[in-house]
Amino acid sequence: MEVTTEVRETRQLLREARQKGCRIGCVPTMGALHAGHLSLVEECRKSVDFVLVTIFVNPTQFGPSEDLERYPRPLAQDLNACEHAQVDAVFTPEISTLYPEGFDTWVECGEISRILEGASRPGHFRGVTTIVAKLLNIVQPDVACFGQKDYQQQTIIRQMVRDLDIPTEIVVCPTLREADGLALSSRNAYLNEQQRASAVALFQALEQAEELLQAGNVSFQEVEEAMIERLKSFEGVDPEYAVIRNPDTLQEPSESLTSVVALIAARLGKTRLIDNRTIPITK
Ligand code: AMP
Repeated sequence: MEVTTEVRETRQLLREARQKGCRIGCVPTMGALHAGHLSLVEECRKSVDFVLVTIFVNPTQFGPSEDLERYPRPLAQDLNACEHAQVDAVFTPEISTLYPEGFDTWVECGEISRILEGASRPGHFRGVTTIVAKLLNIVQPDVACFGQKDYQQQTIIRQMVRDLDIPTEIVVCPTLREADGLALSSRNAYLNEQQRASAVALFQALEQAEELLQAGNVSFQEVEEAMIERLKSFEGVDPEYAVIRNPDTLQEPSESLTSVVALIAARLGKTRLIDNRTIPITK
């Protein structure tokens, strides 16, 4: 497995792989890798010959009061995990490599980046789309894999790739979960024992939304209220939003949709967790 830190050497490596006829896949991450990240690698490998993982804690997607400083960075462990997952290359640049002095060009999606996560975390998606556009430019992969776990993020990235004619196929992969349903996340490491027990609230609220919608005869607003109630019934869970939206636009859903997405953000102490589920609507 090759490990690169510079843009030039990464491009050189990829050029050689392409010359050998390899299709290139890219899995962008912020490190602190868990089985969810590795499932993206596995999915990516199915459609390419050469998988490159990027590990970069992107400062521009963190707000001033967010967890940039304390975000976990277990690089040696991550490289080991990549090696075991038969990753072909890891690109792990310094901040100054991707944001040199004088950097001042940003990629920003419109309305969809200002609602939900974008409303709670102003500027977050501008940071995400800028770094993903840069990584896709550097790697120029045939395929890039993202998790459904970050539902709004993958929606925005697909929009950016469409709008900017970036010649990469975006593959969205299912969310890997703990046995009790908690979505794997690097941020789960922040939870104490009591918070970890309560963190199942998000999954259970999503289960409840699905049950209610499948039973029928319920308004989207009633489902949203039920999700908030379920979240609040767990000790230490402070819901930020729990909504039912159009799965493509993330706007308020119309009654004629055949599926919706339930999206949740909640705080447990200082830790903010998100989760979601797409739910078919049976008429
Ligand atoms: P992150 O390192 O948190 O930026 O995540 C990197 C990629 O892994 C993103 O595309 C995430 O959506 C994806 N991801 C995060 N958690 C999971 C999970 N539990 N299952 C599958 N993919 C995930």
